[in-house]
Amino acid sequence: MEKRREERTNASFLLKTRLQRARNLFSTDLHHLPTLMAGHSDMVEDDETYVTDGMGGVSMEVRRGKGSIGLADNTLDPSDCPSKSESGNVKYKAQFGRLHTHNEQTLVRPCGVVFARATMYGAEAVSNVLVLIKQAFSVPGARKPEHIFYNSNCDAHQQAQKDPWFSGIGMCVDVWHFKNKHKVSHEYCQMYCNPAQYPELMDEFGNWFFNTSVAEQTNAWLGRYSSICHEMTPVRFDFFS
Ligand SMILES: [Zn+2]
Repeated sequence: MEKRREERTNASFLLKTRLQRARNLFSTDLHHLPTLMAGHSDMVEDDETYVTDGMGGVSMEVRRGKGSIGLADNTLDPSDCPSKSESGNVKYKAQFGRLHTHNEQTLVRPCGVVFARATMYGAEAVSNVLVLIKQAFSVPGARKPEHIFYNSNCDAHQQAQKDPWFSGIGMCVDVWHFKNKHKVSHEYCQMYCNPAQYPELMDEFGNWFFNTSVAEQTNAWLGRYSSICHEMTPVRFDFFS
């Protein structure tokens, strides 16, 4: 418990230092928005395929995947802050079986309650995640959130700039992903997606007030149902969910 508390304090200290460094490095003018980098996200998920050379040798080909932007922890060099393929994402593949949906996207409150979900087909597109958020918080009586943590917020925040609905909502990357998976050299990410930018997220001792990894933890829990859900037809799956 004590160790965990210490880690959280250290993380907030580290993120504050990074924010200061980014402000010194890139700009001190908070109203200056770096050029939007469409298609130049700093998130990555690699598509690994294995190719045989016909002589018994096997080589691995790695392409930046178009799909989930959630990250497998072991596929990324910690010094790299991920991005999508610049040479395009289309890869032709034969499909001999059924096509499954890509993932189930959930919105989770910091206390762990899942309060909205959507099925993603083909990819976890950031634009669709924004649609999900907007719809979930547009039902009668709903109030817009003050903060949204998302591991792909460097992309999402840039896209959300075009929609006034998102103005005034803090959109930063969750502490763990920001610390371990996002490039310190990525200007937009460091300037606008660092949780340390928002003092209200910390208590008076500099500890994070909220568990920003709650969505990851919920994902791990949900993942255990995947073998049950995997073969369900759409209606049954919706009923089950
Ligand atoms: Zn980033």
